[in-house]
Amino acid sequence: MTVCKVCFRHCDIKEGLTGACGARTCKDGKVIAANYGRVTALALDPIEKKPLSRFMPGSKILSYGSYGCNLFCPFCQNYDISRSKGEEFVETITPEELAYLADKYKDKGNIGVAYTYNEPLVSYEFVRDTAKLVKKMGMKNVLVTNGTVSPEIEEEILPYIDAMNIDIKSMSDETYRDFLKGDLEMTKAFIERAVKSCHVELTMLIVPGMNDSEEEMRELVSWISGLTDAEGNKTGCKVPLHISRFFPRYKLSDRKPTDVDKIYSLAELAREQLDFVYTGNC
Ligand code: SF4
Repeated sequence: MTVCKVCFRHCDIKEGLTGACGARTCKDGKVIAANYGRVTALALDPIEKKPLSRFMPGSKILSYGSYGCNLFCPFCQNYDISRSKGEEFVETITPEELAYLADKYKDKGNIGVAYTYNEPLVSYEFVRDTAKLVKKMGMKNVLVTNGTVSPEIEEEILPYIDAMNIDIKSMSDETYRDFLKGDLEMTKAFIERAVKSCHVELTMLIVPGMNDSEEEMRELVSWISGLTDAEGNKTGCKVPLHISRFFPRYKLSDRKPTDVDKIYSLAELAREQLDFVYTGNC
């Protein structure tokens, strides 16, 4: 099968080439992660940097990043790795080596492994294989993702994931489709399933002129507050939301940073419906 099942794009990948994310390839007629274990970053970060504010606060987590992403956000803060096809990154690590490192750093306050920096689920096989080992060792797995992933892939990794930070970049189908080359419905469905399975925090980066209206923030927090847990209870108001300030980057380097007052006023508005709202980059 040469059609990739990871996201809505369903890239039909020719032998030896890569899909749109730059991270998945076709080898011997099978779609695999070309970036499996290819390291672009490895650091012991405070958990708050993911950002996670209500999951084991004060702890540290070994954070692994590779390359590739299935979205095309023109404001990407990590475009050097997200848009790379990996030629410049030659270092590799196996799931066993990463789990071993996580264990070794326990005495430095490490609680497990975070899969972050690029979109980790374009290499869901590496996340799954490592997370199984990390969990077996009694440590935690944290995923930082754009949530643009099919239900079958999500179901495959959910049993091993303890916490996630998921980006929700807009409440507009058009913005997702035309500006980010993504799929809002796939992202919302991913979040709806994730909150039933593990600790979830959400992040919205506020980009001037893209998603900074009060109307859009109202729509976002109404939807979040309606999320339900595994028993069907409406627990969405307990899902933490991070509202983050945009700085000019990549293809949007000509825009001004988001006004700090705008971030604070949107956060106030969000607090009308949500219990835990945090501001970032202010
Ligand atoms: S994960 Fe990559 S290769 Fe697979 S469908 Fe999405 S963009 Fe295409």
